[in-house]
Amino acid sequence: MEEIREKGYFGEFGGSFVPDELQAVLDRLAEAFYKYKDDPEFNEEFRYYLREYVGRENPLTYAKNLTGKLGGAKIYLKREDLNHTGAHKINNAIGQILLAKRMGAKRIIAETGAGQHGVATATAAAMFGIPCVIYMGKHDMERQALNVFRMELLGAEVVGVEEGQGRLKEAVDAALKDLVENYEHTFYLLGSAVGPHPYPSIVKHFQAVISEESKKQILEKEGKLPTAVVACIGGGSNAIGAFAHYLDEKDVRLIGVEPTEAASITDGVPAVIHGFKCLTLLDENGNPAPTNSIAAGLDYPGIGPEHSFLKTTGRAEYYTVSGQEALAAFQELSRVEGIIPALESSHAVAYAMKLAKELDKDDVIIVNLSGRGDKDVNQVFDMLHK
Ligand SMILES: *Cc1c(COP(=O)(O)O)cnc(C)c1O
Repeated sequence: MEEIREKGYFGEFGGSFVPDELQAVLDRLAEAFYKYKDDPEFNEEFRYYLREYVGRENPLTYAKNLTGKLGGAKIYLKREDLNHTGAHKINNAIGQILLAKRMGAKRIIAETGAGQHGVATATAAAMFGIPCVIYMGKHDMERQALNVFRMELLGAEVVGVEEGQGRLKEAVDAALKDLVENYEHTFYLLGSAVGPHPYPSIVKHFQAVISEESKKQILEKEGKLPTAVVACIGGGSNAIGAFAHYLDEKDVRLIGVEPTEAASITDGVPAVIHGFKCLTLLDENGNPAPTNSIAAGLDYPGIGPEHSFLKTTGRAEYYTVSGQEALAAFQELSRVEGIIPALESSHAVAYAMKLAKELDKDDVIIVNLSGRGDKDVNQVFDMLHK
């Protein structure tokens, strides 16, 4: 077990800082994960659902118009927006449910803030016929009423959490309490590359399919590896998945883009939050600080432990993009390429547009388009018209 716990550290970051009763549940999960992660039968089943249900592999689209307009590096888009449910989150939800089934779980629980992870979890649970409970802060439920309805349509029970401010943090606490009480038949499906070990490693493993595909695709299309891979960062799951298969390719620049309004890596300090150590934004009392990004999926004060480590070692670079810049990129990609990106993904697009102009015509940039923007159209309407 010590050996498995060691795997949860990325330099000084990661680990597991939780009460003993929760640690026992996490140990059991880690044991199952390391048992199945390289199991051919398990992986064949995972691939089957990625292909037949999610619709993978998705394309690596050459953004010809945008490239031409900027006049610099060639921009390719990895099309996670074309997945079933419209984002990368479903890759992880399917992987974790398959793990849950192997562990004999009869019930799936998850937390959700804006509702996107709740919808992905409810979708996968419906398909596998497993009962599903989603914890969501009362305040968030009011703001995201349509996502609550979506989860209910998919057969999930959405439990409103009244405690505290009725937001993501309280939803996480409620889900953890449920897990500790019901761990024998309950699986907690975590949505990003954050949390105590083994979750960051599990989420990376299932999201790594993004770079496995993009690497093969770019070699077919360009006959060489990209100059840079660019992805937006909330907790860091789409980015770590987009980076994974390039980590050992030292000539490929790996670039994470955070919102200026929630810049955990750029402005954060090492601290333990939510059971793991990472770079994080703290308020004057040492608590996780409130953040305020226009993209709900990026509004998290911490960041996955592996990104914290990659920043410290310099293997990956991290930059910020403001909500205003992301909004401009949202409109530009829609107009020029006919692709409406998620506001989260628009942060990556905005940075890639700047970078392309600085690079040469024979450079290649891959932007991970983590999701589609249909969910954001109402919000953008309000931002542009009010
Ligand atoms: C949730 C979400 C994100 C942010 O989460 P990560 O774990 O950092 O990937 C980014 N893009 C979209 C479309 C999302 O739904």
